[in-house]
Amino acid sequence: MVQGTVNWNTQLDKKWLQEYVDDWVAFYQKATEEGEVASYIPILAEANPNHLGIAIHGKNGMRICSGDVNTTFTIQSISKVISFMVACMERGVSYVLDRVDVEPTGEAFNSIMHLEMKSLNKPFNPFVNAGALTVTSMLEGKTSKEKLAPLLKLLEKIIGYRPKINQAVFKSENDTSARNRAIGYYLVETGFLESDLEVTLETYFKQCSIEVTVDDLARIGLILANDGEDPDSDEEIIPRQIARITKALMLTCGMYDASGKFATYVGIPAKSGVSGGIVAVAPPRVRNAPFPFIEGCGIGVFGPALESRGNSIAGMKLLKHIASQWDLSIF
Ligand code: GLN
Repeated sequence: MVQGTVNWNTQLDKKWLQEYVDDWVAFYQKATEEGEVASYIPILAEANPNHLGIAIHGKNGMRICSGDVNTTFTIQSISKVISFMVACMERGVSYVLDRVDVEPTGEAFNSIMHLEMKSLNKPFNPFVNAGALTVTSMLEGKTSKEKLAPLLKLLEKIIGYRPKINQAVFKSENDTSARNRAIGYYLVETGFLESDLEVTLETYFKQCSIEVTVDDLARIGLILANDGEDPDSDEEIIPRQIARITKALMLTCGMYDASGKFATYVGIPAKSGVSGGIVAVAPPRVRNAPFPFIEGCGIGVFGPALESRGNSIAGMKLLKHIASQWDLSIF
């Protein structure tokens, strides 16, 4: 690994940073062997398990990327962050949070168990499937096309182009959707679903099938790191209150039932998806130390080999390493 003392504030240091990140990616790429690609959505099993890529975006167009950065992949559960923010923007925060709680479950993202265990039966949080389906059902519009339009529009505003929906992934998930349907029927029975079940499921599977790159995820992270504003243009893209709640939910519930460990050992809000993507948010640090990206950054990672909870195994290790090297923790 690269050794040496670096003053991160000079131009020269972008080269140093790049060298460090290249080294770390090469090192953690070996960890992809310890995981497995998701196969419960059959088409996801076709991903190359050895891929690992990262993009880090900061203020003033600062961008470091390394590894498999050009591979596109479907956003999967990271879309729950986008649908939650859009639902809050359309309906208001209290409306949404009256219907979906903000508590971590400690269970798998597609667990059915907790639904019956709380008096109100309110889904635990917007990032488990029960909560995400409820949120998607709250989106304005009668058809999946109408419901998806503001999601795509918000993403376009953040990443600078209109993302595509991968129809093959949508079909694969729709064809093997028994568990999500079971959750959906339960939500119909308990009165939490606000739209037709089929429309909700179609919208949800399509939002999970939006194609992105690590750079796109890093952009999402950067806007959240800056409380919803583009740090370069100062334009408000997401209202501050919604950005803050979203980050709190990412920290407590974003990495499925590994969220506690991630918050403890990495210490930044993040959200993962079963295709191997992770978006991580490093807010500006108040301490005046010579670390890179002191003014905050967004990080996008892609590594389709997953650990048992459904998070990118090498991606988590890489993030943990970078967070400790650059003092990114919010604590
Ligand atoms: N589309 C996937 C599902 O609902 C998303 C899951 C995930 O990324 N954890 O099963």
